Amino acid sequence: MPTPSTFARFDRRMLLRGALAVTAASWVPRRSYAADAVSSTGETVMLSDAAIADLQKSIKGSLVLPSNPEYDTARRVWSPNVNKYPALIAKVTSVEDIQATIQFARRHNLLTAVKCGGHEYNGHGMADKGLTIDLGGFGGVQVDKTKKLAFVNGGAMLGELDEATIPSNLAVTNGTANHTGIGGLATGLGQGRLSRVLGYTIDNLRSIELITPEGKLVRANAKENPDLFWAVRGGGGNFGIVTKFELQLHEIDPNNLTSFGYTFPVAKAKDVLKYYFEMADKVPNEMALSSGVTTAENGEISVSFNGNFWGSPEEAQKLLAGIDRFGEPTRKRFDKADYLKVQSAGAGPKLSTRTLYMHSGFFDKVDSKIPDVVVDRLTKAPMPRAGIRFSQQAGAASKVAANATAYPYRKVLHQCAADGNWLDPKDGPALRQYANESWDLLKPMSNGGFYINYYCDPTEDDMKRAYGANYEKLSEVKAKYDPTNFMKLNFNIKPKGSNKRASR
Ligand SMILES: Cc1cc2nc3c(=O)[nH]c(=O)nc-3n(C[C@H](O)[C@H](O)[C@H](O)COP(=O)(O)OP(=O)(O)OC[C@H]3O[C@@H](n4cnc5c(N)ncnc54)[C@H](O)[C@@H]3O)c2cc1C
Repeated sequence: MPTPSTFARFDRRMLLRGALAVTAASWVPRRSYAADAVSSTGETVMLSDAAIADLQKSIKGSLVLPSNPEYDTARRVWSPNVNKYPALIAKVTSVEDIQATIQFARRHNLLTAVKCGGHEYNGHGMADKGLTIDLGGFGGVQVDKTKKLAFVNGGAMLGELDEATIPSNLAVTNGTANHTGIGGLATGLGQGRLSRVLGYTIDNLRSIELITPEGKLVRANAKENPDLFWAVRGGGGNFGIVTKFELQLHEIDPNNLTSFGYTFPVAKAKDVLKYYFEMADKVPNEMALSSGVTTAENGEISVSFNGNFWGSPEEAQKLLAGIDRFGEPTRKRFDKADYLKVQSAGAGPKLSTRTLYMHSGFFDKVDSKIPDVVVDRLTKAPMPRAGIRFSQQAGAASKVAANATAYPYRKVLHQCAADGNWLDPKDGPALRQYANESWDLLKPMSNGGFYINYYCDPTEDDMKRAYGANYEKLSEVKAKYDPTNFMKLNFNIKPKGSNKRASR
């Protein structure tokens, strides 16, 4: 395990005093930090104190080195199993900071990661022995209420966007955990309580500003750099660092929302799943449903049926009239909701103590065998803390053409995730295997695609599946903007023509 050994002697207070490695008494050549940093291609990088001091002088934000007391806090991301030791974490606060840091990274050919909210399950936001560009200090949202536009800095958290818009009865599709970062969400896809009404977050992007892997600030929209604009809408962090997302807002009534959830015992599981699929065919776009069969810590199995509806509880109850056939649920809620509160209420801890692992995919049609496969899987060989969950898609997102954005899967009716979560790392391998085997049973009935942000440990072939017919074009755009695959700590697209292995 890499330890903060050599950098431990590099003291930022010295740096701030301008003392660097020179002391008044004597000058002692300091050891290089070769062992602590690596290049984007895996070679050792010689980073001198002077180079780090220069970077610190050129940015307003701060550098966190392994010797700093806040190092362990700074390297922590949402998932507790991500345990990486960056050589350097640059906490940037402006476009200029990001440019200076990315140019530094290029000069030293450092393995570089980009972190916004740090919620990506695979820990792509942290570079082991490399440089992490932490955008967390570069938040902020401006709203033009007349034009109904939000300008979101590349390091903002989702809660900032909600708070800047919802109180003015404006909104755009946003994720459901307010401490998630906009950076990973709005470059990946962006599903949420409004996606069936307004499309995904990427469908509401009007333009972006981005710092390319070469450090150049560019703008991209339908007219300027349209290839880049196309690629960023679903292609993740492959093309540079987005410093500004311009998002189209829509008028909503945040108090005209109903949120509901039912839990039933396992005996009802097949029928509840069938009901979910049946209802998903019928309900209007204002309603979004989800259902899943899960096992609790004690192995108890249950089935859930949840959703939200942009309308009154009375209207929602009418739409869901048939649910009475399952008798008394073990848990039930059916509430008129305040959208801003709902967005922050169910977010869970900002840093999870449990590791979540999942494989997921999409169904364009529903095979009638699915409920049997799911319930058999969870009842015949139950594994505590595992699940198979479905969430309804389609609606407004399906009106977008498959080749209009890098994300291609527009006719999807249901997303399905097979997952497991654990507190104790020793439970990880078995739950990982269980989730993988669960998904293997369902995959043949799926369309082969998946949403990158809901997938762990993708292989290079998986990445091709994630983009289907759009992969080829994505790989060409990658070759244009990042021919050396400098930005590789992400859901990686290999630049067209490169034979290097995609990194994970
Ligand atoms: C609790 C929780 C709830 C979630 N809920 C939802 C949900 O409701 N809907 C949904 O769609 N997804 C959801 N997700 C998945 C989420 O979208 C992804 O985990 C996403 O990657 C998180 O973004 P982040 O900025 O927080 O992550 P980070 O780990 O900081 O970043 C992930 C990657 O995004 C890229 N990136 C980050 N910032 C930028 C930037 N400014 N420019 C370019 N690239 C950048 C980088 O490649 C980085 O490695 C959820 C995840 C969690 C943990």
